[in-house]
Amino acid sequence: MHFRLNLICLMLMACRPQSEVSDLKHDAAQYVLSPESWHWQDLTPQEFEDVYLPGNGWGSVDDFLPSSHAATQRMDYLLTRIHDRIKEHHPDQLLNVPAPRARIYRGESPDAFVTTVPVCYSVPVRLKNTLAAQNPESDTDWITLDHNGNLSGASHDGICLQRSMNQDEARDYFDWISRNIRRSASQQGQSDNLCQLDVQASYDGFEVVPNPSCQRAPELADITQAKGFVIWKTQPYIVLYTGLLQHVDAEIKIITTLAHELAHYYRSHLTSFAGDYDYFYYQDAKANPSHKPKPDVTLQARGREIRAAAQLVQSYLEHEHGQNYSSELFFPVWALASRACPSSAKEPCPEACRSFVEFLNDPEVNASLGYWPYESMPESGHCSYQRYEQGLKACAPHLRLTDAETGGSRISIKDLEETVEQENFGETLKAMGIENLAEFKGQSLEQMIARWEQGLEQARIRSLDVIHKANADGIGFYTTEQEADEQQMETVVRLGLDPAQLVAWDVEFYKNMEGTYDEHQGLDMKRCGELLMKQWIEDGRPVLVPVADYNDIHHSDCYRIFTSSREIAAHHYDKPDPEVPIQFLSDLQWKELQVSLFQ
Ligand SMILES: [Zn+2]
Repeated sequence: MHFRLNLICLMLMACRPQSEVSDLKHDAAQYVLSPESWHWQDLTPQEFEDVYLPGNGWGSVDDFLPSSHAATQRMDYLLTRIHDRIKEHHPDQLLNVPAPRARIYRGESPDAFVTTVPVCYSVPVRLKNTLAAQNPESDTDWITLDHNGNLSGASHDGICLQRSMNQDEARDYFDWISRNIRRSASQQGQSDNLCQLDVQASYDGFEVVPNPSCQRAPELADITQAKGFVIWKTQPYIVLYTGLLQHVDAEIKIITTLAHELAHYYRSHLTSFAGDYDYFYYQDAKANPSHKPKPDVTLQARGREIRAAAQLVQSYLEHEHGQNYSSELFFPVWALASRACPSSAKEPCPEACRSFVEFLNDPEVNASLGYWPYESMPESGHCSYQRYEQGLKACAPHLRLTDAETGGSRISIKDLEETVEQENFGETLKAMGIENLAEFKGQSLEQMIARWEQGLEQARIRSLDVIHKANADGIGFYTTEQEADEQQMETVVRLGLDPAQLVAWDVEFYKNMEGTYDEHQGLDMKRCGELLMKQWIEDGRPVLVPVADYNDIHHSDCYRIFTSSREIAAHHYDKPDPEVPIQFLSDLQWKELQVSLFQ
């Protein structure tokens, strides 16, 4: 899970012994969602190499520093110290959590991740109420089953940890899943048609039978049964990039990153239940900051609108210098135009389109553009892109949308509908106010593109308005990242470190980053720092801190500051725990360790 670099300075504090029970506990003080062992899967170092790396599509083991490397050992030491301390506080909760370990990936970006590993169980799954013998060719080997009961084709390439499960364990496990599906759905105000997974006796043992409400991916449409299932579980290796270790100028400053990643690990965010995160709530004055907010069911429809608007406004698509057509339209327009002038047509293709369509269908041209606009354009792409725009401009006036088959100067509405479907463009068109593609009948491709561009521009303006209103109304969006930021504070205090110092330094750090902000990024850091000093009260009233970008599960920088300081207030963190059970490296020793990363 991506960690946005959050460099933090901490100061050690001399502390007096104090009661371990605080009178106010944020829900994040529950270090785990539930203590059952189902969340996690321990791995041996060999399994890390043989299953984890290929199963996740990582590179080879040589892309990581050896586990015997001084830096790996040092990060292991820190993780162990933190884990032991948290275990002292929450022995029952962490009973089934494997001890976390570090692996260091050779990569420049300042990242850290917690990830999952595929685990295979040879327990048959009956997908449809037909006897397998009647339809034997429809069997499949493995299906993937997530904690929300969603079923899909196996994506682990046959690489997984083989584990066994007896009937009692299977019953326990699927009871647990079904119970949690009900619990998390009721949080969101849903109670009907919920997925339920039953374990039933079969002629040669037992099998898992999901009810029809469990979501099935399209690839399973004709499948009646599978020989086993794969589940992805949270595994204990926390991956840190060399780029992260390089960025941190004192060892103590990496503790918050470790604490943040451990929060993702302990609460197994990657395999969480659907209703537990990504919900909307009102951050009003009545809200109790010492408790995790609850989903507000009255905000569900508006929440969907906010998310769609955020996605449209915060489009991370790349732009080319001097570009005339929007990047959002690139794929559907390309795909549609490349269907023109089929060789099977009797009528000749318009002069301006013949070479253009040839150009669009040239695999080398396609390759030259790389993954643009999702990723930046390769050097080879600039010339191709220019030719694309010139060709489109020349050809588009000569192609007309009609009911008849594509050919000559016609493109059929049917081809347009298929393209929109294949390119997943329907939702965007809807946001642009275009519901019925038949409205383009009789228009030229040029006219249709102009209408799309205009619709996109209007949709952007409307979306900005939706987001501004949501921020002004104080609508919050609870995510796994928000929870990790909260639990990170709890962990830091358990280590005896001063959280207020940490937040103050965070403000400074974000201030230095300013200039990269745009209007969606929330309050500027000067104002944020002022509000922090006033504890978010102005003129006797609480100030609403905007989430800002509802598309970024980390939220705006000021919102992160707000979350942290609210945690401190709610838990009375002005009195951290006694002693620091960690001997930090001196600055010189840390520098030496950094140098060793590249030796
Ligand atoms: Zn995170």
